[in-house]
Amino acid sequence: MIAIPSMSGHRVAVLGLGKSGLAAARALIHSKAHVLAWDDNQESRDRAKAEDVPLADLMGEDFSTITALVLSPGIPHNFPEPHEVVTRARAAGCGIIGETELLSRADTGAAFIGVTGTNGKSTTTALIGHILHQAGRNAQTGGNLGVPSVALEPAGPGGYYVLEMSSYQLELVSTLVFDIAVLLNISPDHMDRHGGLAGYRGAKERVFAGQGTSHTAVVGIDDCHSRGLFESLKSRDGALTIPVSGADKAAGGVYVEDGWLVNDIEGREERVMEMATATALPGSHNAQNAAAAFAATRAAGLAMPQIRDAIHSFPGLPHRQELVARIDGVAFINDSKATNAAATARALDCYHNILWIAGGRAKEGGIEALTPYFNRIRHAFLTGEAADDFARTLEGQVEMTLCGDLETAFAGACDMALSESGSEPETDSDATPTVLFSPACASFDQWRDFEARGDAFRALAHKRAGTNDSGSTENNDLHHNEAAP
Ligand code: ADP
Repeated sequence: MIAIPSMSGHRVAVLGLGKSGLAAARALIHSKAHVLAWDDNQESRDRAKAEDVPLADLMGEDFSTITALVLSPGIPHNFPEPHEVVTRARAAGCGIIGETELLSRADTGAAFIGVTGTNGKSTTTALIGHILHQAGRNAQTGGNLGVPSVALEPAGPGGYYVLEMSSYQLELVSTLVFDIAVLLNISPDHMDRHGGLAGYRGAKERVFAGQGTSHTAVVGIDDCHSRGLFESLKSRDGALTIPVSGADKAAGGVYVEDGWLVNDIEGREERVMEMATATALPGSHNAQNAAAAFAATRAAGLAMPQIRDAIHSFPGLPHRQELVARIDGVAFINDSKATNAAATARALDCYHNILWIAGGRAKEGGIEALTPYFNRIRHAFLTGEAADDFARTLEGQVEMTLCGDLETAFAGACDMALSESGSEPETDSDATPTVLFSPACASFDQWRDFEARGDAFRALAHKRAGTNDSGSTENNDLHHNEAAP
């Protein structure tokens, strides 16, 4: 476990005792700090108490005697309005930080790579970790993905912490400077928590805070907000700024053109690999993620062939266009992480003749935005609360069946796919149907979270294929949110 010697003997408050708060409390106790922990939820307090984490109602504490308040990213500290404990801490001049800041204060000698953006954070973080690992580097990967920052193993000199950073977490970093900072993209999201787009953009921008000449900024340029940020970062004195794109040429950067990943960081426009050969990274969105991971690991000093080979061998993440089975040439794709229409659009764009399983608890706007992809859908199988609403949008444009639950939808899609599939196995021709589970909805109407929902789809596909299911995936998202900030 990581120790933070500078916290030894200090009174440190921890508010929020979910996965990240508990990890922070444990690390602080290990560092011999006097911990005062609290969560407004009784169950969370009971869990912490069972681990001997000292509890104290922070509303009754004098914050002028407390060195820092470690806040869970899910607790508002500015908008829509700060938690009362935050207001009290702030009034007493107590520093408010997150658990990633604690990790940076542990000073293990390792370098920090931070990855943020509205979409693609987890994939890019995991890909960077995989590439470094394949190259024999000590890479500890976590943050908003999987293991909380402060619960990672010490990486030590020559090693890397590769951290997925949500906008909430970035707001709780004060002294940490990322050696390599990656911003993939910005689209309006979580406006309530950031007081509008400027606040959200400002939070994302913090990934570059404090960078100097020995640091690198990797910036996506495929949307107007991040492109604008790239232009202003480029003109600052200091960090090397590398543009990346999954769609257009990015002079001096890394981009995908005619299906090839191209490295122009050194000004040689060198073709690295054909993206189609990286089967776990389909679509132009993943092209952007691969370009960013290439730029980040090149900045870490890796050679081009090392990076290329590792991109090839990347297994992908569960629930993100995950190929879970192939039966008679029909691919079964689990895209349960697609909890909104924008994410589902990415998946629909990758296949033809789609048997689409969708539904759950709808997000604002429904699936209107998917209209340009309707001609790729052979039949829709609708489930959950959103089914009637989605049916109204699809009416007259896409054939559909109202199925109620996933099991019924799976059986319908599977029967249709297998009765239509050719006798040629293992083909990806446009005529071969693809069963795509990309709900465009939150899962909470019928499931614990998107992982449980995706696990259920995977299990159904394995059962039908007569193969073993490798088991369930834990909830890896610290906020348990279904629209990553
Ligand atoms: P995050 O951690 O930011 O939520 P993930 O890597 O988990 O991102 O991907 C979640 C979904 O977001 C994917 O299933 C895909 O639909 C979409 N996505 C992934 N990468 C990108 C990208 N670079 N640009 C836009 N959308 C993306």
